[in-house]
Amino acid sequence: MPLLGWLTKSTDEHPDAIRVDGRAASWVELRRLATALADELRGVDRVAIEATATLETVVGVVGALTAGTAVVPIPPDAGPMEREHILRDSGATALLAPAGAEPTVGDDRRPVVPVDLTRRSDTVHPEPDPARTALILYTSGTTGAPKGAVISRRAIAACLDGLADAWAWTPDDLLVHGLPLFHVHGLVLGVLGPLRLGSRLHHVGRPRPDRYAAANGTMYFGVPTVWSRIAADPDAARALRPARLLVSGSAALPAAVFADLATLTGHRIVERYGMTETLITVSARTDRPRRPGTVGLALPEVRTRLVDDDGAPLPADGATMGELQVTGPTLFDGYLNHPDADAASRTPDGWFRTGDVATVDPDGWHRIVGRASTDLIKSGGYRIGAGEVEDALLTHPGVREAAVVGTPHPDLGQQVTAYVVGDGVDGAELIDFVARHLSAHKRPREVRLVDALPRNALGKVQKTRLSAAG
Ligand code: ATP
Ligand code: MG
Repeated sequence: MPLLGWLTKSTDEHPDAIRVDGRAASWVELRRLATALADELRGVDRVAIEATATLETVVGVVGALTAGTAVVPIPPDAGPMEREHILRDSGATALLAPAGAEPTVGDDRRPVVPVDLTRRSDTVHPEPDPARTALILYTSGTTGAPKGAVISRRAIAACLDGLADAWAWTPDDLLVHGLPLFHVHGLVLGVLGPLRLGSRLHHVGRPRPDRYAAANGTMYFGVPTVWSRIAADPDAARALRPARLLVSGSAALPAAVFADLATLTGHRIVERYGMTETLITVSARTDRPRRPGTVGLALPEVRTRLVDDDGAPLPADGATMGELQVTGPTLFDGYLNHPDADAASRTPDGWFRTGDVATVDPDGWHRIVGRASTDLIKSGGYRIGAGEVEDALLTHPGVREAAVVGTPHPDLGQQVTAYVVGDGVDGAELIDFVARHLSAHKRPREVRLVDALPRNALGKVQKTRLSAAG
């Protein structure tokens, strides 16, 4: 099937198939708009686009993919140096910008191709080779500078088909979300998903609970910060009861948010796990009971394994923690301009080293402990997952946000240190609170009360910046 299978074949002229920034297009109209742009892009290898959440971005991406041109989305909130870095690093030779608007990225060395929503065409473009690059996506920069990941058309198709299988995602669905359009979550799942699988899409702009509540979707996507805002807004949460499926990903969903949403919406939210480099590899399924605290089962055609620090296999016994490695058709083709990182990211037998620590139940359900670099605390001979301590802190009524890290300790190697955003709580009380809920060695030795946690565009806590927070 062509990468954007449904878009390629649909004859549906209902005007509300794809709604973004308050403007909507039918399937047929979107195809004709994209084809007109593809006519202009013939022969262009890589094109950059400032990925605002607009209909122009959708047409720009789809037009480029129709022509076989690789798309480099640039985060709209990136500063001038970041933009210039992405442009140069990615090798983009042209820029897409809404017709009539000055592009805010780039320089006069790169021609600007306008995305013009008044131009339509019925030219037929041959389907590009599945091995061609579809997207160059930059990682979220949670642990360091973002790296450009080269993602093929084939990998995207395999990922979306795996999710269609896991989530029973069909043309009868209306997908609702307010995700940014420059990462896997918002762009691959949130835009290319509907275009391949045929569900309608309503992008609500900023992901406010009231907008999710008013959208009448069957499927809702969100990152954990969005779900926790919805869980704190009972009216908005209750409005999601008629939906078919709520999905969380990009970071760990706190157990308390899972539980609150279950009570308010009647839905046990589906968690799924993935990375820019691997796309989505693991997910809960609609045809199986969901297990809170887990991110699900390997998608069809994906294989996963746990290994120790020397790369030796570890058992899937639900308790042993190890690095999660994955392989399968959704893997990227490599990092751009980072040959060392690229070589280091794969094992000799072709598995991708996620850098995440996990446990796997005997029947294949994965639990993500966190990142090996920042979420696995080695203290006094124990290995402590930061997420478990964060979850315990978040059950305290005075704790709004929590991030736990290991900091140097003279005897223990590392100690558990918690950064907390709270209302009228004090550190000693929280240390006691955790000690009452978890084994003693997991309690924080120190609690630092801060005004906010450093987060990136997807709401992920940037733990490497935490010491600067206080
Ligand atoms: P960078 O690689 O630039 O530091 P990043 O790793 O955050 O940034 P992404 O590729 O967007 O960039 O994110 C992938 C990571 O997000 C995973 O390695 C994992 O740590 C985390 N993640 C994604 N989904 C989940 C989930 N459901 N539960 C827990 N963690 C998740
Ligand atoms: Mg990463």
